[in-house]
Amino acid sequence: MKTWSRSETIALANQQCTSCHGIGLRVGRKCSLKPCNCVLRAIFRICYNRYRELAVKEKYLTKATLEMSASHHRRTVWGRRDEEYLADFYLVSKRHLNEIEWGVFRYYFLLGADWKLCCSRLSLDRGNFFHMVYRIEQKLGLVFRELEPFPLFPLDEYFYGTTRTPVQANTPRPVAEARPSISKPRRVTPIRPPVTEEKPADLPDQKAA
Ligand SMILES: [Zn+2]
Repeated sequence: MKTWSRSETIALANQQCTSCHGIGLRVGRKCSLKPCNCVLRAIFRICYNRYRELAVKEKYLTKATLEMSASHHRRTVWGRRDEEYLADFYLVSKRHLNEIEWGVFRYYFLLGADWKLCCSRLSLDRGNFFHMVYRIEQKLGLVFRELEPFPLFPLDEYFYGTTRTPVQANTPRPVAEARPSISKPRRVTPIRPPVTEEKPADLPDQKAA
């Protein structure tokens, strides 16, 4: 289970939330900090909005990119990130939802039906339908954030491969980043461009001889 920090959840939390009061964290069992449901719903909506953008995007705009493989071999592989995201979003959702939730998810989120059509199709009343929509958003928000080994959220990590390395408060700065010392100036190698070899003036011209 991944850890959650306040600096991450506070940007996603609903400021009017009565559970977390805009902090995004709440105390769970054994005094552990858990993400608030408003944060999980925000994560789901961010991922869902990207899914919708990519689903309607013209296919000629997508491109294959060369990426570094995450395996220990560190090979570079070709990939189509947009299509991979669409497939991951669909398959991860299907795997983690039960049959009734998947029905609601498919009609309401994937096919874009309104709540009246969903309720009549799935034989649900309005209250139960929206309770289920909230539950799906919370469930998938947590899954998208905690999925191993490659979570769907944050999106920049998924699409651009930036890694989130936690910085310890007591960790000294690396030597390479430290300011250079004044007493030991850096040794500078002078640039010596190649020059053309000049013929000495006193030698006679061979062609003329
Ligand atoms: Zn909240």
